[in-house]
Amino acid sequence: MIRRNDIILLGVVLSIALATIFIMYTTKSDGSKVVITIDGKEFKILDLNKDMHLTIDGDNGEYNTIEIKDGVVDMIDANCPDKICVKHNEIHYNGETIVCLPHKVVLEIEDGEENGVDIIAQ
Ligand SMILES: [Zn+2]
Repeated sequence: MIRRNDIILLGVVLSIALATIFIMYTTKSDGSKVVITIDGKEFKILDLNKDMHLTIDGDNGEYNTIEIKDGVVDMIDANCPDKICVKHNEIHYNGETIVCLPHKVVLEIEDGEENGVDIIAQ
């Protein structure tokens, strides 16, 4: 015997579950951004879902070129002495960074996928 209250409760539970799935899905698919900081100041925020190249020119001829492709961002070129930023792998997980210490350029992922989500989803 199903009572009316049970149906209402079931409806509420289902709505919450659907809303949770919807929020998780939407934040995962299009919330990822990369924040570019130069010398501690926010320079630009770019959408990881839009493929692009960007060259950041410094005051003394230094440059960093970044590439956004297929939802990941990578430092593809720079004329810094150590090239640590260029050797760094591409990033897309929440909180991941690529740092160019000589040029004080920092790329940081915001609202990205949590590390490990990929494994669960596949
Ligand atoms: Zn560098």
